[in-house]
Formats: sequence, C-alpha cells, structure tokens
Amino acid sequence: MRIVIVGAGVAGCIMARTLSQLPGADVFCLERVARDDHSESGTGLNIGPNAVQALQAHDPALADAVTNSSFPWRTWKISLTDGTKLFDLPITAVANNEGWRIRWSELYRVLRKEAPIVSYDCTITAAGRSAHDPAKTFIEWTQGGARKRLDDIDLLIAADGRYSQLRRIFSGEPAIRHVGVAISRLLVPDTSGGLIDDYEQWFNGPNRLLAFRVPPDHVYAACSFPIAPDLPIADHLKSPEALRAAYTPANGLLTKQTRWLIDTVCAHADDMHWARLQEHEALYADPASNVLYLGDAAHGMVPTLGQGATQAIEDASFAGSLIASAWAEGIRDPRKWLRSIATRADRMRFVMQFSLEATDTMLAGADPVAGTLHKTEPDFVAKLDRLYRDVPGNAAPPNDHGLSAGTLNA
Ligand SMILES: Cc1cc2nc3c(=O)[nH]c(=O)nc-3n(C[C@H](O)[C@H](O)[C@H](O)COP(=O)(O)OP(=O)(O)OC[C@H]3O[C@@H](n4cnc5c(N)ncnc54)[C@H](O)[C@@H]3O)c2cc1C
Repeated sequence: MRIVIVGAGVAGCIMARTLSQLPGADVFCLERVARDDHSESGTGLNIGPNAVQALQAHDPALADAVTNSSFPWRTWKISLTDGTKLFDLPITAVANNEGWRIRWSELYRVLRKEAPIVSYDCTITAAGRSAHDPAKTFIEWTQGGARKRLDDIDLLIAADGRYSQLRRIFSGEPAIRHVGVAISRLLVPDTSGGLIDDYEQWFNGPNRLLAFRVPPDHVYAACSFPIAPDLPIADHLKSPEALRAAYTPANGLLTKQTRWLIDTVCAHADDMHWARLQEHEALYADPASNVLYLGDAAHGMVPTLGQGATQAIEDASFAGSLIASAWAEGIRDPRKWLRSIATRADRMRFVMQFSLEATDTMLAGADPVAGTLHKTEPDFVAKLDRLYRDVPGNAAPPNDHGLSAGTLNA
C-alpha cells in the first residue's frame, strides 16, 4: 500500500512517524520548506491538555519529547488591564493533566526530528485522481530542480495547513467566515523580570492582551481588538499610539505587569504580523477519492481557546492510532479508515462552536466583566471539561460499518 502525506507540520509529522512504522507500507512525506526553516513559525503556542492526553495515549515517547521542550500550562487567569482579577482556573480542575507552553519552531524541531522520512524542499506542482481508478491519486512535485511523480497512491493525507493546496484541488476552496477581531502576535526575549509566566489574559473593554512564557526564556504576547468583520485592519489601528490607547484604561491606571506588556507590544508594533480571526467548515475526507484532511487543512477555527495545534495533535493521534491498529488487524481498506476518521467531525464542530462562543468578550461592544464571569458558570465549565477530557483516543480498528473509536477518559 502506498501512502503519501503532504506537509510536515504538527499533524503531518505525527502521521509520518506512525505510518512509517507500518510493516510493508510504502510511506512518503513531502514538505514545502527546507529542513530547519522555521521562518513561518516564529511564535509561541499554548497547547491544550486534551492534546497532551491524546498524544500520550497514542505515542508516549513523542509526548515525552514534547514535554521535555515545554513549560507546563497549569493556570488560566483573566484580569482587566488595571489589575482587577476576574478568573483564575487551575487547568487540572477541568482536565486530566496540564497543557504545554512551547515555541512553535521548537515543536516543529522536536516533531520533525522524530519523523525521519520527511522529504524537504518539495514544491507540489499537480495532484489529482488516477485516470484508471478514481479512488487512487497521483502527485507531482519538484525538488532540487528535479521533477518527481508518484502514481497509484492508496491514501493521500493532506496535512498542509491552513491554506491547504490539496483541499483546494480535491474538494474546492473552503468558505471563510471572518468574526470581526484583529489579532497580532509577538515572541520576544523575556525581560519582564518574572512579571509574565503562565497563561494570562487582560482586557480593557473588548481589547485583549494575552501573554505567557515559553522555553528557553521568551515571552509570547498577542493583542487583539474588534474590527468590522468585512473590512481589512486599518493601518492607523496598528500604530504604537493606537495600541497604547486600546489597552490603557480611562483612569490611566496600569499594573507593573500590564505596563511592561503594553510597552513591549508598542516597542515592537512595526514588526508585528496582523491577521483577522476566521473559521472555515470542517471536512475530514474527500467523498470521491481516498484523500484525508487533518489539522488546519481539515478545519479552521478561531484561536480563542488555543485549539489549532491542539486539534492537529488530536486529529493525528486519533487517525494514526486508528490506521495502525487497523493495519495490525489486517484491515487494509482506506475507505474504511476514512469513514472512521470522519466521525471526528462531530467533535470538531463542538470545538469550533465552543471556540467561537468563548470569543464573546473580544467582539465589538462586549463587556469583559460579564463575559468572563459567565466563564465561571456551570454550563461553560462543563464545556471546558468536555473539551479537555473527552478526548477520542485508543481508537479501535474500524468494524464492518466503518465505525470505531473508543473514548478515552483516563
Ligand atoms: C501566530 C499563530 C499563533 C498560534 N497559536 C496557537 C496556540 O497558542 N495554540 C494552538 O493550539 N494553536 C495555535 N495556532 C494554530 C496552530 O499553529 C495551527 O493550528 C497548527 O500549526 C496546525 O497544524 P497543522 O499540522 O494542521 O498545520 P501546520 O503546522 O501549519 O503544518 C503545515 C505544514 O505543511 C507545509 N505545507 C504547506 N503547504 C504545503 C504544500 N503545498 N506542500 C508541502 N508542504 C506544505 C507547511 O510548510 C507546514 O510544515 C497559532 C497559529 C498562528 C498563525
């Protein structure tokens, strides 16, 4: 059986490592960037406890390698920028374990080191269904000036991220929905003198700052504010003066912590990359051929609950363990695997909807105090518990109906 993975990011590396261990399988992983090129991942990630649980169940050695390069994510605090405290949640009150705080580039480094089959510097030039068997696919690419092609692919895995070329080719461009929030991220050496450590958010009206420390000694910060959903982010809103005004309360009172953060954000205002919060519909499998979408290629969600990389890890842990156990049982039909993996769409719709719901305090006109207090109420806490604990894992091989997957509740 021939399996091709496109993209050696979060989901692609986990799949490459798992599937390369299937006895007798012919597995390739094609990555666009050069080895050690982390230029597109210069930021920090907070990875949810649900991803830690999923990867620990699927591939404990890989989970340990990530743990060794991370700080634990133990608490989630929310305050106003004037220091008024609103919310202080120990993660293990709603999860079976802590999450991770890690540099994105470091996560790639660890995952790519453990996925030795990756071919770097590959530019995909064409992909499509085979003429003689539409369930199978082909792919063409160039690498180091040479043109290459693979035919008769039994399973093509699109793990090529947010603007997935493969999803466009096989299933069309997903419709994007903007929610009306501008966001910018920054990774700087930690000069806070201990003011910034675990995951915290600070509001001034709906304008939100977020920061946490990542190894070895950096602070990741993000700033956001509402904008009209259908308009680009106006340049004047990104200036240091506008940012300082956005996060400083009317009485001018800041804490040492928020003063350091605002000064730091303003000092780097010219280098920050801005984006608009957006989401797109989840799709795991192309119905017409054996193409599997994972991670951002499968779904786009707003980043409010830090579930992008988290869900890429959940996806790959689920799909990887399902295919590995099916393989061990002698089930070699990719259609059955795809039907089982596609059952994740229900969980994904919950994660996307909940991420959107949690964005309420960041929208125009939002009251961060009322919105944050809602996050302490039983219905929100129950959803957090479901998000962080109800992790599909230890997937059983697909049965004749293509259904599978026990739910891990360690
Ligand atoms: C600034 C920022 C901050 C974020 N913060 C968080 C956070 O705190 N927590 C969190 O959980 N998530 C966060 N995310 C989201 C998270 O980074 C993504 O959801 C996650 O990386 C998705 O993993 P993936 O495997 O689907 O894709 P990626 O990790 O994006 O990997 C895709 C891979 O495919 C490669 N590729 C792309 N196109 C091609 C092609 N045509 N051919 C070959 N290879 C290709 C890319 O080079 C890349 O290596 C953040 C995202 C951004 C942009």
